[in-house]
Amino acid sequence: MSRLNPRQKEAVEYISGPLLVLAGAGSGKTSVITRKIAYLINQCGIEARNIAAVTFTNKASREMKERVTSLLEGKNAKGLTVATFHNLGLTIIKREYKTLGFKPGFSIFDDQDTKALLKDLMLHHNEDTDQVDFVQNQISNWKNEMLTPEEALVQAQLPQDILAARAYEVYEQHLRAYNAVDFDDLILVPVRLFTEHPNVLERWQNRLRYLLVDEYQDTNLSQYRLVKLLVGHRGALTVVGDDDQSIYAWRGARPENLNQLEQDYPSLKVVKLEQNYRSTSRILKAANTLIANNPHVYEKTLWSEMGMGDPIRVIHTKNEDGECERIAMEITDLHLRNGVQFRDMAILYRGNFQARLLEMKLQHFQVPYKLNGGTSFFARAEIKDLMGYLKVLVNPDDDNAFLRIINLPRREIGPSTLQKLGQYSVDRQISMFNACSELGLEQAMPANAVERLRRFCDWMQHIYRQCHSGDPIAAINEMIRDIDYEGWIAQNSSSEAMAEKRMQNVWFLMDSLKATLERLQEDDPDAGIQEAINRLMLIDMLDRQEEEDDSNRVQLMTLHASKGLEFPHVFLMGMEEELLPHRNSIETDNIEEERRLAYVGITRAKQCLTITLAKQRKQYGEVMDCMPSRFLDELPPEDLEVEGSGEKCQVQNQKKGQATLSSLKGLFD
Ligand code: ATP
Ligand code: MG
Repeated sequence: MSRLNPRQKEAVEYISGPLLVLAGAGSGKTSVITRKIAYLINQCGIEARNIAAVTFTNKASREMKERVTSLLEGKNAKGLTVATFHNLGLTIIKREYKTLGFKPGFSIFDDQDTKALLKDLMLHHNEDTDQVDFVQNQISNWKNEMLTPEEALVQAQLPQDILAARAYEVYEQHLRAYNAVDFDDLILVPVRLFTEHPNVLERWQNRLRYLLVDEYQDTNLSQYRLVKLLVGHRGALTVVGDDDQSIYAWRGARPENLNQLEQDYPSLKVVKLEQNYRSTSRILKAANTLIANNPHVYEKTLWSEMGMGDPIRVIHTKNEDGECERIAMEITDLHLRNGVQFRDMAILYRGNFQARLLEMKLQHFQVPYKLNGGTSFFARAEIKDLMGYLKVLVNPDDDNAFLRIINLPRREIGPSTLQKLGQYSVDRQISMFNACSELGLEQAMPANAVERLRRFCDWMQHIYRQCHSGDPIAAINEMIRDIDYEGWIAQNSSSEAMAEKRMQNVWFLMDSLKATLERLQEDDPDAGIQEAINRLMLIDMLDRQEEEDDSNRVQLMTLHASKGLEFPHVFLMGMEEELLPHRNSIETDNIEEERRLAYVGITRAKQCLTITLAKQRKQYGEVMDCMPSRFLDELPPEDLEVEGSGEKCQVQNQKKGQATLSSLKGLFD
């Protein structure tokens, strides 16, 4: 228990009831969870498999697992669950798929799959597909609020909500018929399962005897329910959170879940931590001063013994080009002159679009970087399309891949045909591909629909035979030509340049496939295209893992993605009105959430914080003047070293928001 301060120790050792650790950034909340897992296993004799810790990101869960393993003093961490809510949900669904009525090997629809399905459904019903983003978002909100399509329809008043609710109903039917779940279902489905099957819940309650949750302020309703169900009456629960870091309201997060704990568990113990172990006093003071502008019912004290530190630099550049270039130069300078490792520097921004120019400048200065949350090669739509075709060639039973490609390009196979095919295949327990050749299919749908499906399957089988009898690469190239994929890309790209870039990606994948096949055949002349495709799929997965691996590169990420992380040097970009705070939030008077976002950004820095902003920025092809963010003026001037502003930063009229967190009051009085 060395290194833990008395309050942290108290939080770690308290196991006789539910516990909330509520404290500001960098005070060791996540550390308490990690240490507590080790304590439960080492000191309390609880088996690792009976413990589950829920974190917010995959990265956080990997780090936590590593730390726990090193704290375990050789004891076995086998079976320990450290996962995100979605991964935990997936584990539950996988184990309980029979009770849930799924076939084995159910598919998970990612955002893109969901959008494609919705778009198709809306087209089929002659709805305006411009609304698809709204509909997708609305369905997700309803799912997070645990509303069924029927309930959503009753609630909907505006025409577009009614449209979304109707789409929700059809969408759900399709998902089920496809033996698929979407991202939100990963939490929603287990909650429904546990509510409807107390015996299943009891089994899971016995399995997960102690639950720990990080970043609790950002749980939404369905996540809250899942925790509550799993914990049951036993109350073996530790949650940690910080209301000032609640930044996911747009995804349905409810910071009031913190307050709800006291009502759900009257015996709740609350521990507050006050010492920050992360940042210098100056950085901490800046963060505290900023967040003090948000209404608070509970004044958190946060102090640090990390020394005064350097002033916070504020660099005001001429335009966005200058901003990105300056950051690249600063990083190069820190690296060459001060020997700072690239991995110890991070650049944070409000929106992903800010990274594009930044990437170019970093490349120019030969700064190695890692873009967090960007689109990796294998996540690109055209690569997923082609991989979809390759996957069906290798495994016709891959329903998810089948669905991805069946109407790509259009083959006039509508959603209702697919729904019937899905239902048919679920009833027969066979894959959709195999269902196409069954005689019984004629009873399930019109003859012309069957005919179109069979034409597709026959053609796929033809390609398959070509692959095995002749030159497989030539056969796949023929396949790409047959479907006129180039034409499809041209139709579905925003510009010619974009279309060209996407086709280059396709050819790059084909080159990789060819090279992989040749390499395999060097060892084994009998190796075939199937093995090469499988190998490529494995590279896909490895690539994703590798992407998550932290080599010595500067980290680029959005403020949202930076939650829970820390870096010695942090660059916070675009500190301007309309960017941070974001224009949408200004319009909807939601400045407090933006302030919390800035607070999260500032508190990621351990030693040095540099804030940058531009005087002008190109937007929609026009050069616009930018105003410094109001948040700049909320930082303590004595701790800032402002460069390049010329005149004093102009500050906007500030409108203080309402006390949205006033519901927390009872807890902190
Ligand atoms: P955030 O709110 O940003 O998620 P947190 O409260 O979860 O922060 P941690 O990430 O757990 O804080 O801890 C911040 C840093 O302080 C980490 O580097 C951690 O190792 C260190 N730390 C935590 N507790 C102690 C301690 N008692 N002594 C020394 N260092 C500590
Ligand atoms: Mg944390």
